[in-house]
Amino acid sequence: MDPFDSNAAANLPRNMIENSMFEEEPDVVDLAKDSAAFPTFPALDPDEVVYEPRSSRLLVRGLGENDMDEDDEDCESSARLLGMSFMNRSSAHRSSSFPYTRQAPPRSCSRPSARTTVVCVLFLVIVASMTMVLYFLPGCTFTKAGCRKTNKTTPFEPVYPLSTNGKLFPWAQFRLPRSVRPVNYDLTLNPDLNNMTFTGRTVITMSVLHNTKIIVLHSAHLNITKATFKLGDQETRDVTVLEYQTRQQIAVQLSEEMKAGQSCVLTLDYSASLSHTYDGFYNSSYIDKEGNKRVLAATQFEPLSARKAFPCFDEPAFKATFLIKISRKSNYTTLSNMPQVKSTPLPNGLVQDEFEKTSVNMSTYLVAFIVADFTPISKNVSETLVSVYSVPEKKEHTDYALDTASKLLEFYNSFFEINYPLKKLDLVAIPDFLAGAMENWGLITFRETTLLVGNQSSPLEKQLVASVIAHELAHQWFGNLVTMSWWNDLWLNEGFATYMQYMSLQTVFPTLDIGNLFLAVRFRALDKDALNSSHAVSTEVNNPEQVEEMFDSVSYEKGASILMMLNTWLPGKQQFRKGIIQYLKQFSGLNTDTDDLWNSLTQVSAQHHNVSEMMRSWTSQKGFPLVTVSRQGGQVTLTQEHFLLTSDKATYTSSLWNIPVTYVTDNCSLGPECIQMFNLKTKSGTLELPESVKWLKLNYRNTGFYIVHYGDEGWAALKDALSSNVQVLTQEDRASLIHNIFALSRLGRVSFYQVLNLLKYMSNETESCPVTEALLQLNVIYRLLDKRQEDSLVARMKHYILYRFGSLMDNQTWGEEESVSKQELRSALLGSACSLNQENCIQQAKALFKHYDESNGTSRIPGDLQQVVFTVAAQSNEDWLTLLHMYQTVTYDAEKRKMLRGLASTQDARRIVWILKAGLRGDIIQTQELPLVISTVCNGFAGYLFAWDFIQENWDRLIEKFPIGSYAIQTIIKSATSQFSTQAHLDRVQGFFSSLKERGSQMRSVQEALETIRLNQRWMDKNLPTLQKWL
Ligand SMILES: [Zn+2]
Repeated sequence: MDPFDSNAAANLPRNMIENSMFEEEPDVVDLAKDSAAFPTFPALDPDEVVYEPRSSRLLVRGLGENDMDEDDEDCESSARLLGMSFMNRSSAHRSSSFPYTRQAPPRSCSRPSARTTVVCVLFLVIVASMTMVLYFLPGCTFTKAGCRKTNKTTPFEPVYPLSTNGKLFPWAQFRLPRSVRPVNYDLTLNPDLNNMTFTGRTVITMSVLHNTKIIVLHSAHLNITKATFKLGDQETRDVTVLEYQTRQQIAVQLSEEMKAGQSCVLTLDYSASLSHTYDGFYNSSYIDKEGNKRVLAATQFEPLSARKAFPCFDEPAFKATFLIKISRKSNYTTLSNMPQVKSTPLPNGLVQDEFEKTSVNMSTYLVAFIVADFTPISKNVSETLVSVYSVPEKKEHTDYALDTASKLLEFYNSFFEINYPLKKLDLVAIPDFLAGAMENWGLITFRETTLLVGNQSSPLEKQLVASVIAHELAHQWFGNLVTMSWWNDLWLNEGFATYMQYMSLQTVFPTLDIGNLFLAVRFRALDKDALNSSHAVSTEVNNPEQVEEMFDSVSYEKGASILMMLNTWLPGKQQFRKGIIQYLKQFSGLNTDTDDLWNSLTQVSAQHHNVSEMMRSWTSQKGFPLVTVSRQGGQVTLTQEHFLLTSDKATYTSSLWNIPVTYVTDNCSLGPECIQMFNLKTKSGTLELPESVKWLKLNYRNTGFYIVHYGDEGWAALKDALSSNVQVLTQEDRASLIHNIFALSRLGRVSFYQVLNLLKYMSNETESCPVTEALLQLNVIYRLLDKRQEDSLVARMKHYILYRFGSLMDNQTWGEEESVSKQELRSALLGSACSLNQENCIQQAKALFKHYDESNGTSRIPGDLQQVVFTVAAQSNEDWLTLLHMYQTVTYDAEKRKMLRGLASTQDARRIVWILKAGLRGDIIQTQELPLVISTVCNGFAGYLFAWDFIQENWDRLIEKFPIGSYAIQTIIKSATSQFSTQAHLDRVQGFFSSLKERGSQMRSVQEALETIRLNQRWMDKNLPTLQKWL
């Protein structure tokens, strides 16, 4: 799916939007291949199972397992933020009028309150008692077989948990047994939108792969009222269902053994409530034109929520077919993955819609259904009916999506040489939707902001919608047709869909100029992967939180980046494409792991390049290399090491990458014909250049996933070359130099003086990507200084930015602009100028807002300037209220979201508190927007401490809405903590998260937050004197 980047900040890295949460539907699978399509699993007898600790804590005798504190990792410095808008903050605000000017904590955060102490003592007493009870009870109490003779030679004995009915649950692992597999599900669902409940019947036909007496599958929050079972030709009989809620598993234990090759049918009747969060089968609503509340129900199953709608084998490798029936009131319609085949009136006055059985085998997370009163527009593309659905009053905003989806479907059909396998493809805009979009097969769901655009929308808004559609459509092949076997290889879905989204848009919609966006995305992926808390692209996943956490920048953006690197490196234009066609055809309908992809690419490689050997170094270890260049005349030595932002020697790694280094020199530096290649597999390597070469630039157009250090002389030569003529390098290469030198400064390899020295060339820079990258990097530092209340440095930094970019800022116009890259440049420059209170910018923005307000909807603010204008307006008392009124009445979602960011950028403490609370309540501001609200509030000086307190106070409500580890929670944690740079803040953040225990303390994003604060702290300590001197 496409995790939605709520990091409002950016006109820049909107690509992050694609992060994670949308999926498409599964693709065609030849049913004849059915059995072969299912991976073979080794037989596992439950008795062989080793107890796996997490989450059933009480069962581990005497051991308080995973309570140990998270390993403190070392950190580095990078405050790498996505935001572009410098926050308005007048120093007056902070000192006098502002109640929240806390620097050092008034009370020690480590001293517990009396209440906490009592609770802790009670807790300890309980734990101690339970430990003793468990210790003195016979050890066999919790084993399947009761008291067996002690067998000292068996180191591990399975320890089975207790079911809800007190009986032993016959399975003790997080992953399901592989003895049976589902072949088909018949689902009947009866949602009641008045009472927010539903009943259901699931009939699962299964095939036995290995002799077994148990069937174990998933179910969460479902009240199972009746269960029957039928083995082969035997009679149908009632069975008891055991439930182990901690792992969301249910089991049926049979008296006789089922034999491999037999088939059986399990029928389960159940009832449940529609979910109030954004996953499972959840209820949603919107207010129509007449002001009436309209209720609907929709699904979001990826990654682990299909089990909340129907009992199922909820792992991606358990593919099956689905036949779905849903009942509804006559004034509603239903949608599902497949076309509807019939509607039958029911005796209770409702209508039952039945959908075709899926023509493909698909994973449970791709199943979807919706009950709503949406209206469609449709069009035939090849053999597929493409439709876009929205709430009726937004129908006029669906044309662009239909046209875009149709063109992209044609492109993918031809690019992959495999036609989209279903007869219909629906794209549906859902009023309440957390992720950016979800690629359910045949029924892709979107946020309204990622699907609906008006005719007048700016190209930047269209770029966003086109990107998300391109991403979700790519999933119909990567993810739906060929699916990762397990979540550890999520990048096979997400990295590919992300790469394909940029590649397809470059080809199909070149005017959307998607290249700059992809470049910014690659920079942010490098920033994140430089941390010790990062992880390998393909990494172990052993619990639900870890599954959620895979939806991150590494799976999406780093995955896409290394695919781009590979594509650039493989010789011949079509090699990469041929390889992925081979992969899709070979594994159509099946599940794969990372090696399957590399093997396919190796097979088609004309020159027998060993793709596996090279790419494993990029997917099996975390991080990326720093390549250092040293030159003696014509001899150039390249050395690689792990680019790890840490001051801790203990975390030094000896990792090596197989790096396809590209380089250009002053002899030829612009076109692809200039590229020279060098494969750096070992610690260092040497290449020869003519003595006359003045400079060389590695990583042509930043298509490789590494950072380059040129040494003092190398940097000086490049800076001199750019100072005399910026055109000697492509704009991507210029942006890459800027990104790399800031990163090296964080690593401590170059001084900040060298950074400022390189930026001198920028007086001549006019292109979007180098300017936006430089502004973004300076903004990170500006905000850190601001939050530390280094007032004199803040003033000097502001002066520096206005001095360096002032003339470019002044040159920007405020009318309509067609070119995407000019829009990007303009919104970044003007966003900075206004947030730095540049007078001209503020006046222009205010005038535009006034004109817009007075025109009563007849005039328009250019789309790329709306954010700047609304943010300026929100700083005035009166205009903030006007903006709030507009927010509540405007129907156009992209604009609405920018208004919300404007509202959240206020520096008025009362309003900050109000908006945070409103986001949590979900009435005026949808809760799905809360991560955006928090990240915007955190940008400003006035709100970032409020936001941090708000998160601590409301943590339990937040994780109720947004699952632990999810992209939304990652965003919230990052926004709230990434601008801290003092020991006091570090202690508080650490204290809070370690107090959470299983409510989130183990999250990778917590490690990342702590690491980032330490790095900020280190960078500040080291560089404040330099900044004093040079700014
Ligand atoms: Zn995706």
